[in-house]
Amino acid sequence: MNIHEYQAKELLKTYGVSVPVGGVAYSDQQAARVAEDIGGHRWVVKAQIHAGGRGKAGGVKVVNSIDDLKKAVDAMIGTRLVTHQTGPDGSLVQRVWIEQASAIQKEFYLGFVIDRGTQRITLIASSEGGMDIEEVAREQPEKIIHEVIDPAIGLLDFQCRKVATAIGLKGKRMPQAVKLMKAIYRCMRDRDALQAEINPLALVGDGDGQLMVLDAKFNFDDNALYRQKAVTEMRDLAEEDPKEVEASGHGLNYIALDGNIGCIVNGAGLAMASLDAITLHGGRPANFLDVGGGASPEKVTNACRIVLEDPNVRCILVNIFAGINRCDWIATGLIQACNSLKIQVPLIVRLAGTNVEEGRKILAESGLSFITAENLDDAAAKAVATAQG
Ligand code: GDP
Ligand code: MN
Repeated sequence: MNIHEYQAKELLKTYGVSVPVGGVAYSDQQAARVAEDIGGHRWVVKAQIHAGGRGKAGGVKVVNSIDDLKKAVDAMIGTRLVTHQTGPDGSLVQRVWIEQASAIQKEFYLGFVIDRGTQRITLIASSEGGMDIEEVAREQPEKIIHEVIDPAIGLLDFQCRKVATAIGLKGKRMPQAVKLMKAIYRCMRDRDALQAEINPLALVGDGDGQLMVLDAKFNFDDNALYRQKAVTEMRDLAEEDPKEVEASGHGLNYIALDGNIGCIVNGAGLAMASLDAITLHGGRPANFLDVGGGASPEKVTNACRIVLEDPNVRCILVNIFAGINRCDWIATGLIQACNSLKIQVPLIVRLAGTNVEEGRKILAESGLSFITAENLDDAAAKAVATAQG
């Protein structure tokens, strides 16, 4: 689960990390009030969406007057910001973060990620902050520093000093850098984060300057949310695909894809196999919908409704290998869905496993025209033919 930049900054602030003074706003009026409250003469307006690359896309604006601030906010709120991370449709900007602008001397990169190879959190740092870290990794890999953290003893001072030295932080900046890195690591562990990325970490102000987090991105472990109430409360459902949110509310796993064959399947493995079989036959899946084990008729109806909300769907492939599931329930659910949703697109149904005979009988006696299939390959071929027909 992701959170907004301003939520990440507020969280880091509670760990003693320096972040700019700021406030969140949903309109230009509110933004003006925030700017007056926090004071100063220069502010940064930052679009709050769950994607990076906002700077280059017009989602970060430095302004010198309240008038310009209101104009910048007005131009952002309600528009879809397209960055290299959002995809072509962009993300709707519903709130902005207003903060006092900082006089930046230098920008750095700091990231904590879980390295699957070593099975440890790795601290990644670079003197080339502010820009895409992927680009730095490609073009100047020697500018990226890695420091592996032992989970039993945590991040040690000498490791922080080593990293700080490597990115050019010395003198009075050294103890600040050590304190900041340790605080971010502690925050990450406390909150079950999978990733914490600070880009840029900046040296701001005059003279020796001060280290400040100007942009922060956090990603949390969904499996740990049950014990992270404060993190869960920061979830912004508006940032997630509405169909995926609705599906999770019904205990279904839905992932939107860009083809035209809707897929209702039980189990992630069978779902992947179904997508492969469709692709092998030259078709393109519209989604991945896993009804899981114990799919009641209601669950199947909800699954059909969610799949049909995608206007590109030309037919639905239902592929169930029932173990815990029961084919008769699936069949009953499909009939209920056809009647209550007035389904116009053909349904290709392949049932196997528990109560398969009852399931097939229910479909056959329903008076509705299902296209039935014997096995996965047959079902995929029929679905592709139907979608293309
Ligand atoms: P991102 O593009 O989505 O990663 O957004 P960032 O928050 O990283 O902002 C992009 C760039 O805007 C930063 O790399 C900075 O160069 C600039 N920026 C952000 N905050 C400030 C600020 O307070 N003052 C100035 N002058 N520039 C800023
Ligand atoms: Mn950034």
